[in-house]
Amino acid sequence: MHAIDYERATDTAHALRLAQSADTRFIGGGTNLLDLMKGGVERPLRLVDITRIGLADITELPNGGLRIGALARNSDTANHALVRSRYPLLSQALLAGASPQLRNMATMGGNLMQRPRCPYFVDTAFEMCNKRLPGSGCAAREGYNRMHAILGASQACIAVNPSDMSVALAALDATVQVAGPRGNRSIPIGEFHRLPGSQPQAETTLAAGELITAVDLPPPAFARHAHYLKVRDRNSYAFALVSVAAALDIADGVVRQARIALGGVAHKPWRMPAAEALLVGHPLEEARSRQAALLVRGAQGFEDNRFKIDMAQRATVSALRRAGGIA
Ligand code: SF4
Repeated sequence: MHAIDYERATDTAHALRLAQSADTRFIGGGTNLLDLMKGGVERPLRLVDITRIGLADITELPNGGLRIGALARNSDTANHALVRSRYPLLSQALLAGASPQLRNMATMGGNLMQRPRCPYFVDTAFEMCNKRLPGSGCAAREGYNRMHAILGASQACIAVNPSDMSVALAALDATVQVAGPRGNRSIPIGEFHRLPGSQPQAETTLAAGELITAVDLPPPAFARHAHYLKVRDRNSYAFALVSVAAALDIADGVVRQARIALGGVAHKPWRMPAAEALLVGHPLEEARSRQAALLVRGAQGFEDNRFKIDMAQRATVSALRRAGGIA
């Protein structure tokens, strides 16, 4: 065990000042970071406690959207009246994640920053993991890879993003608000998480010292027709084998807008724009949903997870049926 410097920030500017060295981590709920520290995967020299800097409010935006503070607890967000009524997809996804105890601690910002749960990454007894030890190799490619990626994987890493919430945010076209040493900026959710490429150790596009301050949702368009479907080994406290966030805007029986995002299949939430386009302008029918689901076809499985390709297609059809009310 090494010594860790602990500082409690009083506001966002103070937090940024305290986080100027590369060995610093912000800590909110700590539900993922503390586990990784106990296992020796994360070894920060300084922790900046951000739990007293505010940023937990959920407020309406002038454009009709919603701003959710980065420190809003997952359980509070999932059960907030405006989230439940206007963004049921987000509420469903949050409630599908982790356990009630963890949701009571976990925050919006921390959920976005969750690290993969690949067994070779979280256990330092394994020597090969490009994410933990860049250049060491990827034990999962030839090892146990049942939970791993079927889309967007690289030679260097085949891990998946574990967040349910981020899949719903991808479908809803959320924006991540960030403060940093160079000022504030907005990151579209589709650009926030990265594919592994040759640098799997970087999971997001956050720059050094940047802090998530809020997540913005655009004005609601999918309150009536949305469904988050999570397929997992047990019905609680398990990561997704495959999940689907499906959201439809239907008027006079015709789909005006469609959003489909997959979870548990890639290093980031996986939007399916071609499938979405196939649905727009038509009634939601079983045959067209099946056609859209086939657009997962670019997927490539490994020894233990090829079943996920068929599962992702079936889950997409099922989520669309439930979102559209034809289940
Ligand atoms: Fe490490 Fe990624 Fe390979 Fe897992 S899949 S062993 S996280 S490099």
